[in-house]
Amino acid sequence: DGAAGFTSEDVKPPPLAGPNVMNVILVAVECAPWSKTGGLGDVAGALPKALARRGHRVMVVAPLYGDYAETQHSGVRKVYKVAGQDMEVAYFQAYIDGVDFVFIESAVFRHMENNIYAGKREDILKRMVLFCKAAVDVPWLVPCGGACYGDGNLAFIANDWHTALLPVYLKAYYRDNGLMIYTRSILVIHNIAHQGRGPVADFSFVDLPGHYLDLFKLYDPIGGEHFNIFAAGLKTADRVVTVSHGYSRELKTVEGGWGLHGIINENDWKFRGIVNGIDTKDWNPQHDAFLKSDGYTNYSLETLKTGKAQCKAALQKELGLPLREDVPVIGFIGRLDHQKGVDLIAEAIPWMMGQDVQLVMLGSGRPDLEEMLRAFEHQHRDKVRGWVGFSVQTAHRITAGADILLMPSRFEPCGLNQLYAMNYGTVPVVHAVGGLRDTVHPFNPYEESGLGWTFDSAEVGELIHALGNCLYTYREYKQSWEGIQRRGMMQDLSWDHAAQNYEEVLVAAKYQW
Ligand code: ADP
Repeated sequence: DGAAGFTSEDVKPPPLAGPNVMNVILVAVECAPWSKTGGLGDVAGALPKALARRGHRVMVVAPLYGDYAETQHSGVRKVYKVAGQDMEVAYFQAYIDGVDFVFIESAVFRHMENNIYAGKREDILKRMVLFCKAAVDVPWLVPCGGACYGDGNLAFIANDWHTALLPVYLKAYYRDNGLMIYTRSILVIHNIAHQGRGPVADFSFVDLPGHYLDLFKLYDPIGGEHFNIFAAGLKTADRVVTVSHGYSRELKTVEGGWGLHGIINENDWKFRGIVNGIDTKDWNPQHDAFLKSDGYTNYSLETLKTGKAQCKAALQKELGLPLREDVPVIGFIGRLDHQKGVDLIAEAIPWMMGQDVQLVMLGSGRPDLEEMLRAFEHQHRDKVRGWVGFSVQTAHRITAGADILLMPSRFEPCGLNQLYAMNYGTVPVVHAVGGLRDTVHPFNPYEESGLGWTFDSAEVGELIHALGNCLYTYREYKQSWEGIQRRGMMQDLSWDHAAQNYEEVLVAAKYQW
């Protein structure tokens, strides 16, 4: 009772991470909401906050692309040599939602938020070299909340080829000199398709001792002998995370590894697949801001039936489709390109149009596929809507109003739309690949288990077979259908869950299990 002047509010609960609390520095060239071109930006925006909620001391290091109102100059500047040229950086900082943000300012990053990966190969490489050099020093340079992180209990999380130099710099500049020997580095693969490839002569840009060259040298049939930054990062990092288990498996194959499968197989023991979380504030049918007008409504597990029916009617009305509760609405949302398997949907259209269904497609990308979407709508006005463009509002409304979400992606490192769909009681039909295979467990009618339908190869016959079974269940087995919807909605798809898995990797790296 007030002993020693403490009130109960002064007593902090123990961290969820328990004795595993660490100092974590995530390094990425994009970070939502400041800069984002895809999933990487979302991960850098959300994972650090979730790790901080578990009790870790967490920092994000990203380039400063614009004038961010919430940041302050830390007073720290440093000059780095990149390809023989002096380049000055300044460190800006902010403390938001329990996370330290350190932004690296330099003329080469200014106003580049929409061109993060644009420019000549050498210029991109120089930007990434400067960024990684500046980032690896942050624990000694930039005081956060009064004190630098230092190297105690520290792990870096680097992301994709752009920051794959960070584990290498940690080794070459520190560990090789007996410094930071207990600091760990984890490299996350979001997309193996981009690797930082170039001619062997690119080695002169990265400012490393000559004996490091072998780490970067790779021979493959596409590029012959070449310089490969991802290769060096994968060999040097203490642990490697992929954004799903399925993707991790596929990276070990010739088709999936894009030339790096050999190295990935050799380093197999370092790998762990962790599916990304979703933003359960934005993508939550109970609170979704885009469902508050135009006849839509928020809904939850308790109000699933009526809420979803109302959203479906609102979607049909908004898109000018016949208002019918009993017709299954099939949705597709995504970039229009070969990866997303839009051409498979095209091949399935004649079959689909013979069914009693409505099809709503939202996407932008390849001009010929955009034209195809418009043509489908034109040819089947009573059944199809092909919305060409990028509309977050429409994406939310389709996710809520559709019964089924189709994702025939050829490859999919993680995939978000199937996760959003399940959170909204919308049943996914997917090609069982990468993150789609991990997250959509097939419906089993004998056990009344599973979350959707999958097909094993990217062929139209298989898609039709899976979708056909899905439609049959929708029409004939209402209770099974509702069970699938409810199981989807009851999953923990949050970043908190993913952060727990990342914590296991951090701890394994720390003790080098
Ligand atoms: P990828 O990163 O390969 O494009 P993901 O499934 O990981 O695929 O993420 C795609 C994200 O972009 C999702 O949030 C999805 O809703 C959104 N999206 C894709 N195309 C559109 C579009 N045309 N309009 C609105 N949102 C879109």
